[in-house]
Amino acid sequence: MKLPIRKYGDPILRAKGKRVEKVDERIRSLAADMLETMHEANGVGLAAQQVGHALQLTVVDISQVEDRPSNLKLNGDDKDPASAMPLVLLNPKLSLADETVSGNEGCLSFPDITAEIDRAISVTLEAETLEGDAVRIEAAGLLSRVLQHEVDHLNGILFVDRMSSVAKASHASRLKRLQKETVKGM
Ligand SMILES: [Zn+2]
Repeated sequence: MKLPIRKYGDPILRAKGKRVEKVDERIRSLAADMLETMHEANGVGLAAQQVGHALQLTVVDISQVEDRPSNLKLNGDDKDPASAMPLVLLNPKLSLADETVSGNEGCLSFPDITAEIDRAISVTLEAETLEGDAVRIEAAGLLSRVLQHEVDHLNGILFVDRMSSVAKASHASRLKRLQKETVKGM
């Protein structure tokens, strides 16, 4: 089932996600709905907060993006990133490389707003899967950026928080309008 996507201004986007202690039918069905919602919206990632749940649960799929490459090691083995998609990640822990790189980002909770954001050039992420397995992901390129963006969501952090002051100023009126519309519609 496709779910409504919460927009900037909705307080749930600022909520830190609770650990998912047990994968039950409710979590499986939420993850399936999140995948459907992300795919319908042509997104590359979606966090539980964006569909109204403050949980440590995110879905990612970069397989449809052809012009921004990714590298992936899954549990220590080199993998074709597209073949490993989609990812459903529970309770992720992220370690960041020191080196950063700037790249363009958008967010389904901020329609029509994109900005250059500095992110770590690569990451290591440890998480659990829906099957209860531990998974270790080493990622670079677009996948690394998406994982950082999604784990931020799980901690109530939004890409607007990471914009340069210049980018933020240039989007200020749009951000204000979006926030106002969201609050009005609640
Ligand atoms: Zn986002």
